[in-house]
Amino acid sequence: MLVRIHDIGLYLRCPMLVYLEFMGRECFRADIERTILRHLALYSAPDDLRGDMSKVVRDLATVHRIPEEDVVRSIDGMRDSISRIASVPRDLIKPCDIEVELRSERLGLSGILDRLVRPEPRRRGLLGMLLGGEDKMIPSIVRTGRSPGEGVWRRDRIQLAGYAMLLEERFGVEVSTGQVEYVRDGEMRRIRIRSLDRSRALWVRDRVREIRDGEMPDVRGERCDSCEMAGICGIKSCTISRML
Ligand code: SF4
Repeated sequence: MLVRIHDIGLYLRCPMLVYLEFMGRECFRADIERTILRHLALYSAPDDLRGDMSKVVRDLATVHRIPEEDVVRSIDGMRDSISRIASVPRDLIKPCDIEVELRSERLGLSGILDRLVRPEPRRRGLLGMLLGGEDKMIPSIVRTGRSPGEGVWRRDRIQLAGYAMLLEERFGVEVSTGQVEYVRDGEMRRIRIRSLDRSRALWVRDRVREIRDGEMPDVRGERCDSCEMAGICGIKSCTISRML
């Protein structure tokens, strides 16, 4: 069975999450705000996000089956984030394909890439080198949480490396740049894809396989107090009972 890039992200949050999902528990279901931010970043044109947003509200309510009044209330609370999404330079995200399905038996990986940016040839050259535009393809992932002070979160970097390998396998081109769209903060962060992160992605792939084969994840419970899954995970009570 192929390991999804999503599983790599779960493992990097906590290996127990891979186990829980494999046992049929849904981990981190997106709330309404995250669902809306993600939809706006991927599917809305900048003009739709300025002024009257009735078309966007209708689309969101229809696609995600959320009552229109709930959509309006959430949008009202996210005006700053929405105006930042509308002002992202188009060059960084267009032209592109969205939600690109990728899989490779050889790599043992699969995933749905949020956005595959295909920079215009004119952006290659010196300016392109500065912007990462010498790449024919740039994997871009949308994140609805907060951005780090600089660069991208480690988990995002390693997942981008996984997508880069999948793209290289499918299209036969070198992919050396990736980017993360931290849409809540309106931050676009571009990074070089490093060999180290490719190795880490494959290392995590192998750990995920072991968990699926029945190995219990090795977790120590340090992050359990702030974990949303604590209610259904049960690891803390196991840890305490082992100590008694
Ligand atoms: S409660 Fe602890 S062990 Fe369970 S998923 Fe969360 S961080 Fe991991």
